Amino acid sequence: MRIDDLNPVPLGDLLDDLQHGECRFDPELHTGPDAFTIEPLMDRMAREDAAGEVCASCPVIDSCLEFALRTNPKNGIWAGLPAAQLHTLSTSAHKLGEVA
Ligand code: SF4
Repeated sequence: MRIDDLNPVPLGDLLDDLQHGECRFDPELHTGPDAFTIEPLMDRMAREDAAGEVCASCPVIDSCLEFALRTNPKNGIWAGLPAAQLHTLSTSAHKLGEVA
């Protein structure tokens, strides 16, 4: 079983949820400074925590999490989680699917 088999909701429908839902995406919080700016670790952790708090009250957080797990974004905060953590979750889910 693959992770895609667990939920047949089309990606387009999930994206519609994000676009037409009430995503409170704030570039300063959810993506942070550009690639040419060094962000100190403590600043990044504080920014990501603040973004996570915004996401925690988001009405479309479930769709956001599923979209992120299926599209594997390279950066940013999705459903309150950093992209690297989402990648770990996605990889673990795929591995579980391979043995199930
Ligand atoms: S969970 Fe966060 S990033 Fe995802 S749609 Fe909601 S506010 Fe936007």
